[in-house]
Amino acid sequence: MPDIRENISLKKFNTFGVDAIARYFVTLGSTGEILDFLNSSYSEIHNRLILGEGSNILFTKDFDGIVVRPAIMGINPVKETRDHVYLKVGAGENWDSFVNYCVEHNWGGLENLSLIPGSAGSSPIQNIGAYGVEVKDLIESVETIEYAGKKTVTFKNDECKFGYRDSIFKQKLKNRNIITYVTFRLDKVHRYITHYGNIRKELDKYRETSIRNIREIIINTRRNKLPDPKLLGNGGSFFKNPILSKETLESIRQFYPRIPYWEAGRDQFKISAAWLIEQCHWNKKRIGEVGTYVKHPLVIVNYGNATGKNILEIARKIQKTVKNNFAIHLEPEVNIL
Ligand code: FAD
Repeated sequence: MPDIRENISLKKFNTFGVDAIARYFVTLGSTGEILDFLNSSYSEIHNRLILGEGSNILFTKDFDGIVVRPAIMGINPVKETRDHVYLKVGAGENWDSFVNYCVEHNWGGLENLSLIPGSAGSSPIQNIGAYGVEVKDLIESVETIEYAGKKTVTFKNDECKFGYRDSIFKQKLKNRNIITYVTFRLDKVHRYITHYGNIRKELDKYRETSIRNIREIIINTRRNKLPDPKLLGNGGSFFKNPILSKETLESIRQFYPRIPYWEAGRDQFKISAAWLIEQCHWNKKRIGEVGTYVKHPLVIVNYGNATGKNILEIARKIQKTVKNNFAIHLEPEVNIL
């Protein structure tokens, strides 16, 4: 029977570093342990949360339910072709350690996603993305155990309904399927994605273009730009970049011709949430223990003793000013509980 713990502080289980108490907490290290747990009476507790490394969650109150932490480890090659290697990765593996493992083996594709916090099992949930790459492009399949059905269900890439910071696991199947393994398809022949941000410029400083050098550039850039959650609590970008129709974008551009935007599909455009927040004078702001990060207004930080409620309050104020000024709703990227 898995070890169910009671009244556990979640402070070290979320990167905002806010305190909240979980009524029950269980770590499950294998699919066998998950099934044992699902066959126990604890699985009937209605209020549940599947937790990875807590880098995309804001706890605004105690969690009166059960926190289930899948901690399945292992990186196993399951197939190899002339151009690709397929790796099946346990949900509990740390994401960046996995990226490092791939780069060390000279398997390409994930290097642009270096240093994103979290576990490998969470990577499909919001289809993590950075520097011109989304993880959906490297995912072959996602293996899960259905909470209610207690059976394994595997989703092929096209069944995951991936979108911008979105998937079926963030929507319909949220807290209903425990992701146990993700199978990735890595490239043996490298396709470098260098158009984004400063990558191309930084590569000039290196003798050659390689996935190892790209990883190094991304790590340095991220360290420079984003706060380290170990030093300053945060959950990365608090809001998603809004996606607008061409018509809406054009009407905004009449008044704000310098608004940064990118194409995001047919007649759809993504605009910078950071820019909107800056225009509303929220950059470098600190109110009590909460603020927008000095180098990136989209990141809300905990200066030490903020509660989840304090953070949410500021997030709501930011949302409101952006709404009032631009008539645009900023949708949180962070899961608010
Ligand atoms: P958690 O925060 O623990 O959980 C996130 C969601 O997934 C929750 O709804 C949870 O219930 C669910 N979940 C977790 N594990 C499982 C599982 N095994 N089965 C089913 N459901 C599960 N994201 C990006 O996309 N790009 C970035 O560049 C980026 N940069 C970041 C920078 C910083 C400094 C921080 C703090 C965060 C950043 N993020 C970024 C967000 C975050 O790193 C990702 O969303 C990450 O995938 C979350 O992983 P996690 O294990 O911490 O998930």
